[in-house]
Amino acid sequence: MTPKAKPETIAVAAGRMSAEHFGTVNTPVYRTSTILHPSYASLKAEAQSRYSYGRCGTPTTESFEQAVAELEGAARTVSVPSGLAAITTAILAVVSAGDHILVTDNVYGPTRRFCNHALKRLGVETTYFDPLVGAGIEALFQPNTKVVFCESPGSLTFEVSDVPAFAEVAHRHGAVVMMDNTWATPLYFPALARGVDYSIQAATKYIGGHSDVMIGTISVGEEHAKALTSFVRDAGLFASPDDCFLALRGLRTMPVRLARHWGNGLTLARWMAQRPEVARVLHPALETDPGHALWKRDFTGACGLFGVVLKPVSETKLAAFFDALKHFGLGYSWGGYESLIIPAQFVRTAQHFAAEGPVIRIHAGLEDAGDLIADLTNAFVNMEAA
Ligand SMILES: *Cc1c(COP(=O)(O)O)cnc(C)c1O
Repeated sequence: MTPKAKPETIAVAAGRMSAEHFGTVNTPVYRTSTILHPSYASLKAEAQSRYSYGRCGTPTTESFEQAVAELEGAARTVSVPSGLAAITTAILAVVSAGDHILVTDNVYGPTRRFCNHALKRLGVETTYFDPLVGAGIEALFQPNTKVVFCESPGSLTFEVSDVPAFAEVAHRHGAVVMMDNTWATPLYFPALARGVDYSIQAATKYIGGHSDVMIGTISVGEEHAKALTSFVRDAGLFASPDDCFLALRGLRTMPVRLARHWGNGLTLARWMAQRPEVARVLHPALETDPGHALWKRDFTGACGLFGVVLKPVSETKLAAFFDALKHFGLGYSWGGYESLIIPAQFVRTAQHFAAEGPVIRIHAGLEDAGDLIADLTNAFVNMEAA
């Protein structure tokens, strides 16, 4: 018996269909709406055929979803047009009017907007919880609580949550756990194995990996596969074949890219931590981080994304810092091969985040770490001079 393949091997091997495609290594892009049937009988039996209509998936979609499912250890992965669509789709697949959901206070900002606007209008109530609440989340449960939605480390402030504790409580109360696992990816946090029911990826980030595709995935075990798939069908959602192709091409090299993002990110984080302009660094792989013990227990790696809390500084000086950078792009998103930086703005309603000064978010790309440090050094000189 061969042992279960490691993630690096799965990333290379999963979802390939060479034998069905003249031996080509990659499954080609199938652009189609209509799928023709050879006969009246075959058309009538459409529901039983593997491919029935463009919106319901083609071999391109299937290759991508199969590869993600194998990495996630999932029975089923569905792909949708963006990471945010993966989040909203997972929630909508489960909740009904009159339900209540628990959402982490450090959730990705647009997820909060969705809960506060669309979900509220549909009659679903949201309570935000302190990401560090752990098993204490039980006190927030109501008889109609259907979902615990977590993200760890959370957006912009990078607190690590006790996800297995959430799962234990949620399952006892008949609720499901959804996790935005974009930061760690299934490589560094095997969400389903940690008790998560709906593992969500903004595949736009590390899976795509090249800043050229927007796509999201939801992965579930057998017990949720049918309900999720049928909701996605009913809603008319699907990711385009070109996007599935690009995302799958990115996924093949994700393990090697992530290892380097991790190394570069940690190098920059350690360097930042000893800068006089910096109050503290928000990176759970740093031994000094409050989330380090949980990170060590549950995660097997870190990506290139982390936060820095600066000491109080004027807007003019902050602008001088940002504008001096040459290797860090100023822009949203992350997970591509290139380094990025943004000033972080966030809302907290459950637990105030006390920052000494401005918070910035850094994405360490695949460049030479020494070049990145030289760039940041120069930017701090520019800040001082402004
Ligand atoms: C970017 C991001 C998303 C949304 O992904 P899109 O593909 O941009 O819609 C969701 N969650 C997190 C944590 C993100 O950083």
